[in-house]
Amino acid sequence: MEQVSQELNLTLIDEVFNLQKEKSLKMRHSPAVQRIALLKKLQHWINEHQEDIRRAIFADFKKPYPEIDISEIFVVNSEIKHAIKNLESWMKPKKVSTPLTMLGSTSYIHYEPKGVCLIISPWNYPFNLALGPLVSALAAGCTAIIKPSELTPHTSALIRRLVEETFDKAQVAVFEGEVEVAQKLLAKPFDHIFFTGSPSVGKIIMKAAAENLSSVTLELGGKSPAIIDREADLKDAAEKIVWGKFVNCGQTCIAPDYLLVHRSVQPAFVEALKTQVEKMYDPSGKGVEKSNDYARIVNVRHLKRLKHLLSDAENKGAQIYYGGYTDENECFFEPTILTAVEDHMEVMQEEIFGPLLPIKTYDAIEEAIDYINSKPKPLALYAFSKNSGAIKRIFKATSSGGAVANDCVLHFLQNELPFGGVNNSGLGKAHGHFGFLAFSNEKAVLQQRIGFTASKPLFPPYGLASKKIIQSLIKWF
Ligand code: NAD
Repeated sequence: MEQVSQELNLTLIDEVFNLQKEKSLKMRHSPAVQRIALLKKLQHWINEHQEDIRRAIFADFKKPYPEIDISEIFVVNSEIKHAIKNLESWMKPKKVSTPLTMLGSTSYIHYEPKGVCLIISPWNYPFNLALGPLVSALAAGCTAIIKPSELTPHTSALIRRLVEETFDKAQVAVFEGEVEVAQKLLAKPFDHIFFTGSPSVGKIIMKAAAENLSSVTLELGGKSPAIIDREADLKDAAEKIVWGKFVNCGQTCIAPDYLLVHRSVQPAFVEALKTQVEKMYDPSGKGVEKSNDYARIVNVRHLKRLKHLLSDAENKGAQIYYGGYTDENECFFEPTILTAVEDHMEVMQEEIFGPLLPIKTYDAIEEAIDYINSKPKPLALYAFSKNSGAIKRIFKATSSGGAVANDCVLHFLQNELPFGGVNNSGLGKAHGHFGFLAFSNEKAVLQQRIGFTASKPLFPPYGLASKKIIQSLIKWF
């Protein structure tokens, strides 16, 4: 039975891919108004089905409705609005200046759609991370096949319904399923692959893309640090970090993974964190498990992985300052603050992706900078300080996909900024104009005049005159 459905999938993938290939040729010269109409259809479906979206995501991991509204529905909606507002100007060919050596010609960059694109998305923001890239693909004039995550089946089914009710499959299609489906899709010669997920799977995607020389955007993860300088406003920093770390139950690619805190402020800061966790998630004192505002871990496998990280850290000498309670039946993992952590603990070696917050201390800022620079470049880096000089120093001395001063996570919502990682945390950028560019080929167009041109005197046979011209070109241009 399974084999039959596998074969069926394979045939369907071929059929849809060929349909999209044909369609993509027509989309190559699609005007802004046609693309905007597709974006408006998507926007309309989302607006009309907000309750269905909430129900599906809640069914997957009990994400609180306000969190769904802000981090899934609002984010996609704002991406659509931003694209609709700016699309005409993004699509306009960009004229570039002409050097003297090219006198008589004109040049411009033409933004043509890459063509048939594959979007593979993860489970942690299952709606936002599948639909956000689709907005950019449609804005750029591409067709797209989406492979949502198998770990959030309710949301994946909803995305499929959305797409089937909104688009022709020659324009957008969804293939649900596990790794096998992703692998079958990856065998096709896509013009672009937009992958969001872990660095280890990112490497597999890049290898598969290499077979067809498909271009890739890899939105990956890793360990994003937050530095708490000795001149930080501790209460303000604690409020922001507790929200950024524990929203979505810590399952956020740009959540602060661990903290580097100046030794002089460490005791006061961990206390501020604890106060803030209680204020946000346990105001009645009955336990965080009673809060309606705290999501759950996506499945028992991930809960066990996190429990292992915690027990490994404890066995090696870390101390639980707050939290530590778990309930496997409910996939519940309490917000947990860990102190006295050391590098040899697994919690400091792999991306945590859950509500465990390890804290390391440092004495001089160079120590914190050297520590970050000794690790793979993070997706995001956060620095908290009232001293703007200290923040500048940290940002100048480190490399990361994004950097935020005195806040965390929020740069995801700023669609005028490129979003993405660097090396281990990702390749390429997303959101707004940068998402449009990711799905566009920046075609270089040079328009030459007919008749005499600046380059003709250089054609062979190479006489004394042409040699002199070449020498003066080298000297003067
Ligand atoms: P994952 O890499 O396990 O899976 C992502 C997608 O890849 C899923 O659709 C899955 O089916 C598919 N996949 C898994 N194994 C595959 C294989 N061998 N071949 C082809 N496809 C395969 O990631 P996840 O667990 O869903 O998500 C968590 C990771 O994603 C974390 O590392 C997190 O930091 C990262 N992430 C990054 C961003 C970002 O914007 N940079 C956003 C969210 C999550």
